[in-house]
Amino acid sequence: MSIPAKAYAAFDPHSPLVPWEIARRDPGPHDVQLQILYCGVCHSDLHQARNEWKNTIYPCVPGHEIVGRVVAVGEKVTRFKVGDLAGVGCMVDSCGHCDACASGEEQYCSEGFVGTYNGRGPGSENTYGGYSQVIVVKESFVLHIKHPEKDLAAVAPLLCAGITTYSPLRHWKVGPGKRVGIVGLGGLGHMAVKLAHAMGAHVVLFTTSPAKTADAKRLGADEVCISKDPEQMARYREQLDFILDTVAAPHRLDDYLQLLKRDGTLTLVGAPSEPHPSPAVFNLLFRRRSLAGSLIGGIRETQEMLDFCAEHGIVSDIELIPIDYINTAYERMLRSDVKYRFVIDIAASLK
Ligand code: NAP
Ligand code: ZN
Repeated sequence: MSIPAKAYAAFDPHSPLVPWEIARRDPGPHDVQLQILYCGVCHSDLHQARNEWKNTIYPCVPGHEIVGRVVAVGEKVTRFKVGDLAGVGCMVDSCGHCDACASGEEQYCSEGFVGTYNGRGPGSENTYGGYSQVIVVKESFVLHIKHPEKDLAAVAPLLCAGITTYSPLRHWKVGPGKRVGIVGLGGLGHMAVKLAHAMGAHVVLFTTSPAKTADAKRLGADEVCISKDPEQMARYREQLDFILDTVAAPHRLDDYLQLLKRDGTLTLVGAPSEPHPSPAVFNLLFRRRSLAGSLIGGIRETQEMLDFCAEHGIVSDIELIPIDYINTAYERMLRSDVKYRFVIDIAASLK
């Protein structure tokens, strides 16, 4: 027996996503079964659906910003019960015993975590993500949601965009007294602005889109810099302690390294399919600056982030779409035309 579920899938890199039917496993003793209500649309979904990272297994059902209601639990499940609201992010399993897993950083599992989609599942079959009606996930990879139910659609993007920005902001100790740059005001970037502001930092948003200036300030940016304007960029030379770069396309990192103070760090979370032009070594040497990267966040930290957001009234700014709008949504995302995250109304549109 298995659970049939309607879904949307990409069958090759060039064709639009189309309706498809998948089967979910029956919940085992440690599993939670979720009726998916909403799923956020991450730029990674687009990279993956179009094989831009050259590792896509087709058919591919994207979606790793999942929120829904628990409809069944295995007999050994203790932390969830039928009727609870719950979330699933980018991972559904990991080895559980390597150094990274033991320290709650499953995203760095030395055996490779199992992605919510395009991952290898328990029987080594491909995993399917949240553009579907139902998902069955091991309890230890399911998150509690404490936000009011009316905010549920806007909570979905926290499961990837939220944790991917929260984790580096915490790791590099962003807080009061720190001047922080956020590069790109898309799904990740707008969460980074909200979170860095809530953590008490002074936030400077760098954008290629002048029309986003007013929004950036409303979201929590203290200052906005149009990155295409060299004069505006020059004002921030050696002014920032930390910069988080969320851009989904290759660009010159030197433009940002120069904005760091001595010992400052530029951390990349954007994952373009082509490399950035190599930065000049001297920009690193002369101020002992660091160039770093960061991948989503562990399960424990994801719960911490969700609780932090619930406490501070933080959700994503979303545009709710039906699932048959997904291909148009991808095109708009490529034009940086999203304010600031598409979320699919799965329950209302995938029937
Ligand atoms: P998004 O909503 O499309 O936002 C990306 C933003 O980058 C755009 O809104 C735009 O902001 C800016 N941008 C786009 N093209 C640009 C260009 N050519 N030059 C300069 N700026 C440009 O994407 P997202 O969902 O936030 O994801 C961003 C990236 O992070 C993707 O590559 C995604 O795969 C990756 N990601 C990584 C992780 C991780 O764990 N590290 C997790 C999730 C996603 P402005 O209009 O403000 O310039
Ligand atoms: Zn994502």
